[in-house]
Amino acid sequence: MARRLDGKIAIITGSSRGIGRAIALEFAREGAKVCINYAKSEDMARQVVEEIKSLGGEALMIRADVSKLDDVKQLVKGVIDRFGRIDILVNNAAIMLRGDFLETEDEEFYRILDRMWKVNVKGVVYCCKEVVKHMVKNRYGKIINIASIAGIGTAFPGTTPYAMTKAAIVILTRRLAFELGPYGINVNAIAPGMVLTDMSTPEGVELARKRCVLGRVGSPEDIARLAVFLASDESSYITGQVIVADGGRIDYLTHSL
Ligand code: NAP
Repeated sequence: MARRLDGKIAIITGSSRGIGRAIALEFAREGAKVCINYAKSEDMARQVVEEIKSLGGEALMIRADVSKLDDVKQLVKGVIDRFGRIDILVNNAAIMLRGDFLETEDEEFYRILDRMWKVNVKGVVYCCKEVVKHMVKNRYGKIINIASIAGIGTAFPGTTPYAMTKAAIVILTRRLAFELGPYGINVNAIAPGMVLTDMSTPEGVELARKRCVLGRVGSPEDIARLAVFLASDESSYITGQVIVADGGRIDYLTHSL
C-alpha cells in the first residue's frame, strides 16, 4: 500500500524530543526521509535516528541552533547534500521561558523576550528563508509551523512573552501562504493545546484537563498525525490556516482571529 509521504524529504526542527520527535517518527512511518535537528540533545537525536532505521526508514541528524543563521544554512545544506531537495519543513523547535509582566524584574523580562524571539520567531524565519529557496525551484513545498493556542488567545500565567512569539507565527503563516502560494507551496500552522512533553508543567496539564471538553491532555502523537495530514497531498487545497488541536479548550479570550 502506498504510504502518505512516500519518498518525500522532510526537515523537522527540534525533533530530538517531544512533539518534533513524534512528527519525525510518524513521517518516517509514512515513508518520508527525515532530518532530525537538535540544539543540545545529541544522544536523544541519535536515538530517534536509530528508531527510524529500525522501522526501515532513512534519517540523518544535524545539530543546528535555529536562532543562528549560519547554523540554519548548514542544516539546509546538509539535507540538500544528502537528499538533493526538501519537500517538507516543520518549524517545531521552540523554547518556553516564563516571565510574569509585573512580577519579573525588568531586565530579566526583556532577556526572556529577546531569547524567545530569537529562537521561536527569527528561527522560523531563517528556516523558511533558507528552505524556500529550494522549494521555489521545485514549485512544490509544504511548510508547517507549530504555533500554540497561547498565540491565539488562551491565557496562562507568566506566558505573555511566549504567547507573543506564537502570535507572530500565526501571522507569519498567513503572510507566507499568500507570498508562496503562487509557487506551489502550502503554508499552514498547528496550534496545539497542552501536550505532554518536557515543556508542559504539572499545573498546566491539570488546568488543561479541567478546561478542555475532551478532559485529557494531548499526546505528541495527536499533533504528529495532524502534521502528516498537512504534509501530505491530502491537504493540497489547504493553505494559510491555523489548525487548533487542543481537545476543545473553553478558555479563549477572543475568537476574533
Ligand atoms: P520540548 O519537548 O521542549 O522539545 C523542544 C525541541 O526543540 C527539542 O528537540 C529541542 O532540542 C529543540 N530546540 C529548542 N531550542 C532549539 C534551538 N535553538 N535550535 C534547534 N532546536 C531547538 O518541546 P515540545 O513541547 O515538544 O514543543 C514543540 C513545539 O510545540 C514548540 O514549538 C512549542 O512551542 C509547541 N507547543 C507545545 C505545547 C506543549 O504543551 N508541549 C503546546 C503548544 C505548542 P534539544 O533537545 O537539543 O534541546
